[in-house]
This record gives sequence, C-alpha cells and structure tokens, in this order.
Amino acid sequence: MGKSRANSDNTINSPISVKVLKNAETDLPTLSHVSSMVNTLPDKQQGLCFNLFHHHLQKKIEDHLCDSDNPYDWVTCALLGIRNLGTEYFKRSENRKQQFIGCWPDIFKWLRAMLNVQDSFEDGLLFWSFAAEATRICLSLHQDVLHEDEVVEFAVRCWIGRQGKDGEDYYTEFPLMACLSVLLTGEQQRGVDLATSGYRIEKALDACDLDISDFASAFVTRLAQRINKSEHTTRMGELPFAMVGLPQTLGLIVRLRWLRFIPAVVNPKVGRCLVAALQVVVDEYPPSPDRLLTINSLLSVIQCSLLLQDVDFAVAIVERGFLGCVIKIAAFELTTPLPGVSMTCDVLNSFLPYLVFSDMVVACRRAFEVLHNHQAQLRLLKETKEEFQHRLIDLENVTLEYNIFLRLTNAGFAPERGICANRACSKKGFRSEFQKCAGCSFILYCSQSCQRQDWDWHRNHCKKLTTSSRNILRDRYIRFPRRLASFYIHRHLRQILAPFSDTIKSQKSFPSNVVVSLNYLTYPASVQVYERTVFLQAQIESDGGHFATVAHEVHRQNDEETHGLMVIINFHTHSEMEIPCVIHYDDVWSRGVSIPNESLKYEGPGIPTSDKEGRPLICPDYDALRAGVVLTKKFAFESGESVWAESVLEKSTSEVLKEFARELEMCKGAGA
Ligand SMILES: [Zn+2]
Ligand SMILES: [Zn+2]
Repeated sequence: MGKSRANSDNTINSPISVKVLKNAETDLPTLSHVSSMVNTLPDKQQGLCFNLFHHHLQKKIEDHLCDSDNPYDWVTCALLGIRNLGTEYFKRSENRKQQFIGCWPDIFKWLRAMLNVQDSFEDGLLFWSFAAEATRICLSLHQDVLHEDEVVEFAVRCWIGRQGKDGEDYYTEFPLMACLSVLLTGEQQRGVDLATSGYRIEKALDACDLDISDFASAFVTRLAQRINKSEHTTRMGELPFAMVGLPQTLGLIVRLRWLRFIPAVVNPKVGRCLVAALQVVVDEYPPSPDRLLTINSLLSVIQCSLLLQDVDFAVAIVERGFLGCVIKIAAFELTTPLPGVSMTCDVLNSFLPYLVFSDMVVACRRAFEVLHNHQAQLRLLKETKEEFQHRLIDLENVTLEYNIFLRLTNAGFAPERGICANRACSKKGFRSEFQKCAGCSFILYCSQSCQRQDWDWHRNHCKKLTTSSRNILRDRYIRFPRRLASFYIHRHLRQILAPFSDTIKSQKSFPSNVVVSLNYLTYPASVQVYERTVFLQAQIESDGGHFATVAHEVHRQNDEETHGLMVIINFHTHSEMEIPCVIHYDDVWSRGVSIPNESLKYEGPGIPTSDKEGRPLICPDYDALRAGVVLTKKFAFESGESVWAESVLEKSTSEVLKEFARELEMCKGAGA
C-alpha cells in the first residue's frame, strides 16, 4: 500500500474504502496516507478517519515504545491527522466537539511524551505544529483543560523549547498564549486577584527547574531573531504572522499583571527590541488581520514597563525611535481605532517623570529634533487627534525647559553646595569640593581627618542602612533632579515656605522644622511641605533608615541651626521610590534676569512680547530658565529653525549665561 501512495495523492473528495481504513489500523504507510489527505475527504469519511486516529492514540505509551524502531511514527501520523482535521472540523457540531474532548487526554498524553524525545523525529517542526494546533483547538472548544497545571506546564515547556541537533531553536509560543488567554478571561470572570495568575506560570517554571529570567530572556532572544529576520524578508513574506504571536503573548502577560515578570524584561535591550517590533508591525504592508491587536499588546508592554521607573529602558526606547512610532499609531488610530482603550496619550504621559533625568532630556531632545526635520512625520502629527497633539506639545515644552537647564548647569550654572558633616568643622563650600562617606555615599566631608573625627557620631546611622536604603541614597540618576529641585525650590521659595518667611529673610537659610516633597509626576512639579518630626516619624516607622541619615545630615547640631533643606524627590507612584536629598540655601541663581532685546519688533506665535506691565519683553520678570525658554523660541522663530537646532540652543543659553558672568566667575574662584 505504501508504494501505491502516489496514485491516490490527487484524489479530492473521493471516498476511501473501508478496506483502506481497516489497513490503516495495522499498516503505517496507509495510516500516513490517510492522515495526510484527511482534510480533502467528505465530512462523513472524516468522522471515520477521526475514529482511526483516536484508535492509535488510545494505545498505551509502553506498547508503542516496544513494537517498532520508530515508536512515535504511528502516533505522529495520528496526530498529523488530527491536526489536518483542525479546528474547523471539530467546530462543525456539538458531537464533533465532544469527540475532541473525549480524545484530548490521549492527545495530551502523547504530546507530553513526545516533548521529551523530539530529537528522535526526523522533522523537528512537526511536533511544534501539533502542539500549537492541539492547543488552538482547545482554545476554541475545550478551554477548561488550559487551566490545568499539567497543561500550563506543557505550555511553558513548549515555550522554552529546545536546541535541535541542527542548531535551530525549536519552540512554539502558541500553547502558552492559549493558556494565558484562558487564565486571563477565567480570572476576570471569577473576579480573582489577577496577580495570582502569574503564580501559575511560576509554579510551572518551578516544575521545569527554570526561573523567570530563563523564561523572560527567551522572549528577548526570539523577538530579536524575528525582527532580524524581518529585515531580510520582503514585506509580503511570512513575517507578519511570525511577529504576531510573541507580542500578543507578552501583552497577555502584562494584562495578567504578573508582577514578577515585567522587571525581568525591563532593560534597554528589550526596550529597543519592543520598539523595533512595533516599527515592523506599524509599517507592515499589507497589514495582517492581527496587526491592531499586536500593536496594542506591544504598547501595553511598553506602558507597563515604563511604570517600573527604569531610566535606561525609557532612554533606550526613545533613542530607538519610539516617538515616531507613537505618532504613526496615533495617526491611523483615528480611522482605525485600536481594540480597547487608546493608549497613545497615556504613553506620552508616562514619559513625563523620566524627563527629570539628564539622559532622557538628551534623548528626547534628539527625538524632537528628528521629528522637526521629518516633514512626513509632521504631516502625520497633524492627522492625530487634538488631545494627542496637546500632550506632545506639553512633552516638548518640558523637554525644552529641562534641556536649557541641563545646558546651563553643564556650563557651571547653579553649582550645588554642601557642608562638611564634621560638627567641629562645618565647612561650607561647593559640593564638588567634598568627599562622600564610602558607606552611605551621602554624608560629605572636607577631609579624611574630618571623617575620622565624625565617625563615632555617624557610624550608627551609616551602619544601620539596609541595602535598599543604600541603593536609594546612591541613586546614580539623582544629580540632575536634585539640581532641578534646588532651582525650583529657590524660584518658589516665598510660596513654598510662606509660613516661615522670617527665617528666610533674616538668616538666608531654610527653616529647621520642614521637609519639602517634590513630585515630578506632574509638570510643573507639585510641592508639599511637611512638618519635619511628623514626616520623619512616619518614614522611620516604615523603613526609613536612609531618611534618618539624611535628617541627621540636615540637623547636625541642634534644632535651631540647619545646614540645608531636606527634600524628598518623587517620580514614581510608589512611595518606596522616594529619594531624599539635601539642598543648601543659595539664592543667587534664581534671581530675575534682563536680557537685552535687540529685536523689539519681534512678534512670534505663542510667545509673549511684553511682560505683565506691558513693557516690551526684555525678560525683567524672567529667571534664567524662563528667559532661556523664551529666547530659544524667539531665536528659533527668527532663524526659521526649530528650537532644537544646536545653533539656536547655543545662542539662547549663552545669552542667559552672560547675565551670570559675575556669579560664574566667583564659583571658579571658589574652585567649584
Ligand atoms: Zn555614611
Ligand atoms: Zn571638615
């Protein structure tokens, strides 16, 4: 029978005889033939074939293992038959559906057994397509089983996959995707805390002796592989589908709020990868039917990752061109709404707190510069909804202000001040002149001998710090937000510390009994003032060893004499991410500046041409930062370039710095 196979290959819809079906019970080539052509048969015959396949799958694993050199050949043929019948066959009637449900334990028994011995198959891909199709059928007809621990474990194993003898990476994400979507709808219906669903995956990982990082890194590697492949395939190729499964699986994980997973994938490499995937899908032509869902999945993964406050991740996605992607999505979103709630505006908002980090300021500046040089993108932007355009303009304005501040500080503007923590010394100076305590990286000393003298006093606080407290104090990104905080607090000092204005006037220092909390989640940053003892009590009760250390740095001698203001910087919704720091009184940099305006005729759009009293705009009421912003817009308008052009930014910041020539000179003299 095996040799005559070719004769019947072209038969379409012609019934096969009862004799052939009978033969297929004992003859492998016949079975192989039947299973390969089953989808061309009339409906009734397909039913008979199904019984044949089920018959083979019902055999016990041990029986098969001993009766042939290739024990899995029979099963492979039977599974191939089931796969070829496919979802469509089992969906045709309730009876068929019940057939599948009845057969599932046998299908699953073999899939599990085969997963362990895939190397013995000639065609490594077959198993993976069985696994994918079988779970696809379950997803549409037999969802309950996708809840079962052993199926979840199977799905995880299929996702981890294996390295084939040929060096290829064999895996399929489909069983995992099926399980995740059933877990998600199940949990939603039952109102179970979603966070526990991630635990199901973790349990499965445990059973496979794997941890989350193995699981997560597989996503990164494979997503990168597929994107890489996309650069070598034509747009019409197989790629669009390949790009669908991984992003959607990631999207499901995010929607399940599997909290331990996201930190495992939030790093710059993944960020670049996600944006690259988004670019492939956004530009995909012709668009695959799953395109919108895939875009949404990728956006929600990025959005969720941004909540974790990983600065490197945020910088990486901006550098990789995320802004351009979001504009494209926002543009076609108007005509083709994405499923679910639109995320484009929210995603822009999540960038705001990151802008207080200098790397992000630089990355966003480049991104806006690219945007302004890109006519097609500017045209697209005009097609987006108004709310999106407003959010983008807000983001651009904040970027501009912070960019100018970064340029000013890089040129020596507003250097930070500090004080030697040794009470017997208390030398004041610029922060750069001091050394930090090696233990906490926070307390400053003017010399090693001062540190030795102070150690008896400081050691208690320094040694009590936990690792997480230390990490918070050492936050490598804190410098720029701290300098910005110092500028804002001095700018608004009268309002912020209104009840204590006497102290400020008379002593040129901060009042001793306050803590100022600055929240960068909004623009302008929101400010709250706390009574120091109340605030500290609450902090120290929760964890707060580092708060105590900082408080002692501020109040070295007694409650009457303070050396700085304790400021809590916040750019996260979680309070455990609050970073305390100390700023010292120095009001010379926040004064108003008047910048000579050679071109009084100038009238630019959206920029004030006169101040509140109607005087021509020469920035009398503008401090360095506002003057910088206004001048940049003015110079950009005059030169016809964007505010991001280097020549424009350079010109405006140097105008501002000229105003501070005397102060800058004094700092140099002081060795700052
Ligand atoms: Zn220390
Ligand atoms: Zn000292």
